[in-house]
Amino acid sequence: MTIVPFILMIAFMMFVFYAGGMQDIRQYIEIEKSEKMSQMLIYGELSYVIENDADKLNQENYLSDLQARLGEQWAGLLIAKDGKVMSVPAFLLELSPEQDWQALFDNPPDKASLGLFRFETDVFGFQYPDGSEGEILLLRRYDVVPLFWRPVGAAIGLAFVALTGLLLTYFVSRSIIRPIHQLKTAALQIKDGDLSQRLVKTGKGEIGQLSTAFEAMRIRLKQSIDQSLQYEENRKQLLSHISHDLKTPISAIKGYVEGIMDGIANTDEKRERYMQTIYRKASDMDQLIDELFLFSKLDLQTVAFDFKVLDIKRYLEHFLEEQRFDLEKSGVKLTYSALAKQSIMIAADPDKLSRVLTNILNNCVKYMGQEGEDGEKRIEVTIQQEERYAVIELEDSGPGIDEEDLPYIFDRFYRAEQSRNSETGGSGLGLAIVKQIIEGHGGVVWAENAINGGARFILKLPLATTPKAVTEHEEHTDH
Ligand code: ADP
Repeated sequence: MTIVPFILMIAFMMFVFYAGGMQDIRQYIEIEKSEKMSQMLIYGELSYVIENDADKLNQENYLSDLQARLGEQWAGLLIAKDGKVMSVPAFLLELSPEQDWQALFDNPPDKASLGLFRFETDVFGFQYPDGSEGEILLLRRYDVVPLFWRPVGAAIGLAFVALTGLLLTYFVSRSIIRPIHQLKTAALQIKDGDLSQRLVKTGKGEIGQLSTAFEAMRIRLKQSIDQSLQYEENRKQLLSHISHDLKTPISAIKGYVEGIMDGIANTDEKRERYMQTIYRKASDMDQLIDELFLFSKLDLQTVAFDFKVLDIKRYLEHFLEEQRFDLEKSGVKLTYSALAKQSIMIAADPDKLSRVLTNILNNCVKYMGQEGEDGEKRIEVTIQQEERYAVIELEDSGPGIDEEDLPYIFDRFYRAEQSRNSETGGSGLGLAIVKQIIEGHGGVVWAENAINGGARFILKLPLATTPKAVTEHEEHTDH
């Protein structure tokens, strides 16, 4: 920032000289050369006059002519007779009217400043014909630049340097230093663990790209920290849910066993009822542990998927046929429609897929049951092909799912009614397992509410002909 203004100034001056100044400089040199020649002639004449014809210096005409000729060359003579100044050049009188010429003559400096110019001096003596002592002080301008131009020139140069310096500092600071400073502040904030401050893109070019990349890094970092916090929270919740869900039936079993031991169940009928409750609670626990076990294996990706290429249309037909009897026993009417004529081939693990469908159907039955016995209970299953996916839809005529619960029902241990009442709810793992298995197949699953108000589950599974999908499955199986 210090060197650049100087370089700029030199470049600027060179430009000025080349653009218009060069001619003037050449002219000036020419003039100076010719001035020197005529000066030499006059000085020659002068030395002849003082040697041989000093009387001429007494003649007014000659003297003023000589002074005038010298004056054209920016030179002049102070002539003194017996130490007293007799003649002062007219142009010098004009240039410096205040000057004390006698004093200048008495103590001539090497260089004298007169008006705006500087003159060099030369003193030499001679003899008038009448015998009186003559002395001449020759004053010759040696500097063509007027005196004030030096400080003015220096000031202009300095102002130029300062201005360009200032401008440079401003632009550099605006485009580099300020964004870098912001980056530094943001980096320090991140170092202190504050990832919430957004970094606004300020600079352009590389600096701008750097701040964009930095902001992307901050977002990514924040996401990953949030995610690990979420995982930690989930882990805590999981532990507390498991403890709670195991503790409840265990306490109940303990209570009933104590009831039997203490003789509270004193009739066969009561004992029978107690035993049945104990059995039910133990079965609940068994199921919960089963689901937990499966879920954790899926979560750790230690379950091997046994993929087979199958026609999902036929698979569903068989599966639902097997379910139909149980469903009808619970008063549920099942309809199945395949909207595609041709077979739909997918790569799937049949056992895992049946687990998915069972979980969803069981939920449908469970939550439709809550609705009250009067309404008709229906489950409609459809299958169709959409681009490279097989799409299975399962819709019930139950109460549906609250909109605010929809994003969470596939989360582990999430139950819409948070009562965790084992009469209605299960482990809260059913849909989490569904999601794990479907994603293990490279597919997606989500839920929505149907127009009739019931819940609708949509499963999208990639077709077997999609090479990418099959590769992904194989990778998954390797885990
Ligand atoms: P749960 O063991 O509680 O059924 P799930 O993971 O199977 O756990 O389901 C999560 C929640 O999603 C349930 O608690 C319930 O609120 C809601 N849900 C699931 N299926 C249905 C359905 N067919 N109709 C209404 N709500 C449902």
